[in-house]
Amino acid sequence: MDSLWIETTKDRKPLNVLEKDEKTEICVIGAGLFGLTTAYYLSKEGKKVIVIEKGKIGEKVSGNTTGKITSQHGLFYNHLISDFGEEYAKKYLEANEEAINSIKQIIKQENIHCELAEKNSYVYTTKQEEAIEIEKEVQAVNKLGKDAKFVNKIDLPFKIEGAIEFKGQAQFHPRKYMYGLCESILKENKIYEYTTALDIKKNGENYNVITDKGIITAKYVVIATHYPIKNLPGLYFTKMYQSTSYVVAIKTNQKLPQDMYINVKEPFYSFRTAEYNGEHILLICGSDHKTGEPIENNCKYEELEKKAKELYPDAQVLFKWNTRDCISLDKVPYIGEFSNIMKNVYVGTGFKKWGMAFSNVAANIVKDEILGKENLYKNIFTATRVEPIKNRWEEKNMIKESVNSILLNKFKVETEGIENIKNDNGAIIKINGENIGIYKDIEGKVYAVKPNCTHLGCLLSWNNLDKTWDCPCHGSRFDYKGINIYEPAIKNLEIKNIYNNEK
Ligand SMILES: Cc1cc2nc3c(=O)[nH]c(=O)nc-3n(C[C@H](O)[C@H](O)[C@H](O)COP(=O)(O)OP(=O)(O)OC[C@H]3O[C@@H](n4cnc5c(N)ncnc54)[C@H](O)[C@@H]3O)c2cc1C
Repeated sequence: MDSLWIETTKDRKPLNVLEKDEKTEICVIGAGLFGLTTAYYLSKEGKKVIVIEKGKIGEKVSGNTTGKITSQHGLFYNHLISDFGEEYAKKYLEANEEAINSIKQIIKQENIHCELAEKNSYVYTTKQEEAIEIEKEVQAVNKLGKDAKFVNKIDLPFKIEGAIEFKGQAQFHPRKYMYGLCESILKENKIYEYTTALDIKKNGENYNVITDKGIITAKYVVIATHYPIKNLPGLYFTKMYQSTSYVVAIKTNQKLPQDMYINVKEPFYSFRTAEYNGEHILLICGSDHKTGEPIENNCKYEELEKKAKELYPDAQVLFKWNTRDCISLDKVPYIGEFSNIMKNVYVGTGFKKWGMAFSNVAANIVKDEILGKENLYKNIFTATRVEPIKNRWEEKNMIKESVNSILLNKFKVETEGIENIKNDNGAIIKINGENIGIYKDIEGKVYAVKPNCTHLGCLLSWNNLDKTWDCPCHGSRFDYKGINIYEPAIKNLEIKNIYNNEK
């Protein structure tokens, strides 16, 4: 099912596809929130920009988000102060607060109708032992110069032990906002849909962005593909993993809460309202797991639907969707120069499910780098930093999780024939000693692929909820026919003719 944001912007006109080689100053790869904001700012500076997008604009992570624009990223500031120091934490906070204002300004200046609403944001707890953490967070945030408050009551329909309140935060319809950015970019520059970047190669002083439709030559390249599509240099796959979350949108006759909320610790539940057909509805987001874990059924949505019914017994589910985001090992995004040995190529990733404000922070940093201007926050998010890799505990944890998923998956390889796979289900089976990924549709038609990720070869797991092949190592995803839908992989899976193989 499409997200509320995609469903309500389906009438938008498709954009052109690249038809011939082109030359420009800046090529932005990826038209999600980060890529489009970067292209918007650079267009405003009079730069020549071409944006290329593999599918339709804003249809991937940014079109499946919950769209809270906030500097409140869970309980994070107390941790930032103790791990990175007060000055660092202050800059992190200010960068995000400025981003909220910049988004509001863009919306006003470009007259974008994207349901922007100013809201308070809360991190709450229902557990007494967690209230102390909230108190500490309030003190930390106040120390950094932001006025945050401890409150005992919020308007969700249950009792809490405490919450931290941030005023002046916001929510919007992310895809309407992205289409607003597009309109402005297209006045001076170009955006191509259904144009996939395959590689970036040095060409004298410039780069050639090789796409499936032609070559774009540019002095500067911005990799805004969510997870960078280039492994070397950069090695982002050694310092990041992906985490999936699910959203249900419900209708109820009960009074809905006014603001934006999330609890302190897993299992997370995040809440915000939205508009649909002239009515207020409620979004509940949660059920997080590492992307690529085998998913057998509907249980992730069922968890959220159960929560919805517990809080609002008459809840009627209107939409459900899921997506994932990149999490860096130190929980701070990677923004700026992509690699020390690839000058003029920039990246913004690892937004850890807070990419609405972070896309704006990243776009400002990258814009200033290209314009040769100083940026106050550039050193806070340095993309080339290696400290996260040195964090042995986190690195071990990431590797352990990947190995666990791979092993879990390996044990799932069947040695029996395909007759054991039920209709509308998938599995990996061995045929003549070779692993083959099989999906049988509702009528029993068989689709067979080589179940190894085209990114770095990891064995894929079957996701029976979305009918996709997912990578437990780095989070690439492919549909049941083997078509690549989520990066870092770019290429489709190899299709297998199993009947020939069986001979
Ligand atoms: C369930 C969920 C809820 C969230 N809710 C919030 C929230 O409330 N507030 C918040 O701040 N953050 C939230 N986030 C995080 C936020 O949505 C993301 O951080 C942000 O949308 C990422 O934007 P992006 O531009 O980096 O990625 P995307 O939006 O994925 O953009 C990348 C684009 O690049 C394109 N692309 C990929 N490969 C290629 C290629 N080879 N060639 C050309 N194009 C390519 C893709 O098709 C895509 O359109 C949430 C995340 C999740 C998972």
